[in-house]
Amino acid sequence: MADEKLPTRAEDFSEWYNQLVLRAQLADYAPVRGCMIVRPYGWALWENIQQALDRRFKATGHQNVAFPLLIPKSFIEKEKHHVEGFSPELAVVTIGGGEELAEPLIVRPTSETIIGHMWAKWIQSYRDLPVLMNQWNSVVRWELRTKLFLRTLEFFWQEGHTAHATREEAVDETRQMLDVYTDFALNDAAVPVIPGKKSEAEKFAGADTTYALEAMMGDCKALQFCTSHFLGQNFAQAFEVKYLDQNGQLQHCWTTSWGLSTRVIGGIIMVHGDDQGLVLPPKIAPTQVVIVPIFKNDEEKATVLKTAKELKQRLAQANLRVALDEREGFSPGWKFNDWEMRGVPLRVELGPKDVAKEAAMLARRDRPGKEGKTSASLADLPTTIEKLLAEIQQALFYRALAFRRAHTHETKTYDDFKKAVENGFAFAGWCGSGDCEAKIKEETRATMRCIPLDPASVLGNGGTASSGTCVYCSKPAKDRAIFARAY
Ligand SMILES: [Zn+2]
Repeated sequence: MADEKLPTRAEDFSEWYNQLVLRAQLADYAPVRGCMIVRPYGWALWENIQQALDRRFKATGHQNVAFPLLIPKSFIEKEKHHVEGFSPELAVVTIGGGEELAEPLIVRPTSETIIGHMWAKWIQSYRDLPVLMNQWNSVVRWELRTKLFLRTLEFFWQEGHTAHATREEAVDETRQMLDVYTDFALNDAAVPVIPGKKSEAEKFAGADTTYALEAMMGDCKALQFCTSHFLGQNFAQAFEVKYLDQNGQLQHCWTTSWGLSTRVIGGIIMVHGDDQGLVLPPKIAPTQVVIVPIFKNDEEKATVLKTAKELKQRLAQANLRVALDEREGFSPGWKFNDWEMRGVPLRVELGPKDVAKEAAMLARRDRPGKEGKTSASLADLPTTIEKLLAEIQQALFYRALAFRRAHTHETKTYDDFKKAVENGFAFAGWCGSGDCEAKIKEETRATMRCIPLDPASVLGNGGTASSGTCVYCSKPAKDRAIFARAY
């Protein structure tokens, strides 16, 4: 797999990405166009992401559930905006067991409708609230232009769904989950995200307000990392999800939903990857450390492998995810390239001279070549490695943050704006009009990514106090928003 070089990111970012996904063995194309097979290495990465999030969901009081894959078609038609948004992407089942079905079924594109239907049965009184649920599953949206992890017909994700007695509680939940995702993005995925609010045009079909995290990829385009929706009473009214309040009055619930998908893997690849391949943040890397033994003859092999196996055991005991590459018939150099392609954060090179000195050579994935190499004593290697992994985790985050800030421009004029979105984010005043937003999209292919909740943190310079004027129509701006070309 590591014999051939990847195209560089500068040459062809898209092809670099496609080949990296295949050659790092994260995923492959399925026989059905637009579907994806997640291979063991990719799934191990997803499992680490799942665990990091699931822990946080449970700590904030959510319980996991499993709703069915198939939903009666009539359900999706009950919420007007929802059906308008999702109709073109639906997969519909019309035949079951050889018979035409009385009512067609849809393969879930998301589960608000079926969950709303069941809540109408389960929720009676204010005592039944709040309901805080999440499910890990896959959904189907019939996408026409697909790309592994970023856009596939079927994708894996989690969908959180909650019901509350008051508007305020539901809004708080929406924001709380955005914070939970932000914490994961910054601390585990090492991705500097911008939490913000979506425009009317970009919000979820059926939501009152959609919040999202936006991240800058290595080619300066934006990727929506995840979303958190305040659904108001839209679904509660469509499905008659009601409760008796403390005064014996019947009220509609207030609901939320929030989701993060395998798309995030695409984001992690494009934020951290380099021309050698994948670069994974230590916290979620399936393998954090790989030991590559180096020897020329059987005698050296025996000595080196003995030390390597002991070392592997010690690192595993220190709760590090460690692999020992004992593959026969491959040179150490070939193995180095192979593990670099797979983005393992730290490599331990162990040869007979190292063993004699009771030391090992450590090579950081985030700093290729000599610059990232240090010799360390075997005796304290678990501690040294733990410290180094923490350093790598931080370094990846700060590198990505510096990159994003270097490619984000506050723009006052439309000419500057057009230049900025050619190769980065434009941070600009916006009057709030959908017309200006649509014209901008038509003329520059840049979409309104979000209105940052903390504008001062976007560039880290405190920002300008006033929003100024709309970059398109020059009327007074309502907000300052991030515009960019996006995945
Ligand atoms: Zn305007």
